[in-house]
This record gives sequence, structure tokens and C-alpha cells, in this order.
Amino acid sequence: MSEWKSPICLKVILIGNAGVGKSSFMNRYVNYRFTSSYRATIGADFLSKEVNISERPVILQIWDTAGTERFQSLGTPLYRGSHCCMLVFDVTSKASFSALEVWREEFLIQGEPLDSSNFPFIVVGNKTDLSNREVSGSLQALHWCERIGAQYFEGSAKEDVDVDKAFLSAAQAALQQY
Ligand code: GDP
Repeated sequence: MSEWKSPICLKVILIGNAGVGKSSFMNRYVNYRFTSSYRATIGADFLSKEVNISERPVILQIWDTAGTERFQSLGTPLYRGSHCCMLVFDVTSKASFSALEVWREEFLIQGEPLDSSNFPFIVVGNKTDLSNREVSGSLQALHWCERIGAQYFEGSAKEDVDVDKAFLSAAQAALQQY
């Protein structure tokens, strides 16, 4: 008989500019659906999903935050206790990519992870289904990720490209922080 293990709860937080697709990415992963109507997240929202990571039952608690300055004061309590942070940008918006540096700094300051130099960040370039791309994955995004020691994924919440892959990696990284 296999050993019974109770699930552990891991917190993954999504941050980045408003409109990059954070809610859509989370919804695609947890609820298997996509909606094209845009509804700004007010403050923060979370969804849970049960998964097995390395044969360990895990409840992934995924937090979606509002990407507007108006809510950035919420950062402190929201960021704390995270086991992994997903920095999300839109590949058709250079500005959303450039903003990630500041989002990351904010997270490290306000979230106060125990070991900030080894805290896992996963960078996600969303909306690869669109043709008006402004950020090159192989050049700009990968280059920055190498510099900050983050993993890079790109895909599409709309067309369900590599969403699972990005979350699986986030869950694995989160488990190592537990
Ligand atoms: P958030 O503010 O970062 O949470 O962004 P939302 O998830 O609300 O998405 C903002 C807008 O982008 C919505 O109209 C979504 O339908 C759209 N969107 C999200 N992901 C994708 C994607 O992968 N491809 C395309 N084409 N549109 C997307």
C-alpha cells in the first residue's frame, strides 16, 4: 500500500501590468476556459487547483492581482507567504515587458521572501497567438531571464498553449520553497 500523504498548500502569485492576461492564464489553467471579455480584477482574487507534484498531493493556491498602481498598496499582505512568483507580460507590448523589472523589485521588497537571491520567478510571455509581436522570446525575454535566474515560458491563454507547462514549473519551484 502506498504511503498516504496529506496535501500541502503552495501559494503562487501572478503579477504584471493590467491587461497582459493574468486572469485569463489562471482561468485557463484552473477552469479550462477562456473568455475574451475584459473585466479588470479588483484588488486580488485566487483560485485553487489540486495537483500531484513528484507524487506529492499539492493544493496550488493561485493569486491573481490587479495590475494597476491604484492597488499596489495591497502588495504587502498579498505578496507575503508566496512560494513562487509568475511575472506575466504580453508579447505584443514592449511596455509590459519593461515593467517586469519594477514588478520584480516590488515583489522582493514587499513580499520579503526568506532568501530573496534564490526566490523562484517564472516569466511568462502571453498572447503568442497574436501577430503584432513587440518582444522577442528568444532574444529579449530569455536574455533577461538568464540575468535574473528565472525560467521563461511563452504561450497563449486564448489558444491553450503551454499554460500547463508554465504552471507545472511554478508548482515544482514552489514545492522546493516549502
Ligand atoms: P489581466 O488584467 O492581466 O488579468 O488580463 P485579462 O486576463 O483580464 O486579459 C486582458 C485581455 O486580454 C482580455 O480581453 C483577454 O480576453 C485578452 N487575453 C488574455 N489572454 C490572451 C491571449 O492569450 N491571447 C489573446 N489574443 N488575448 C488574450
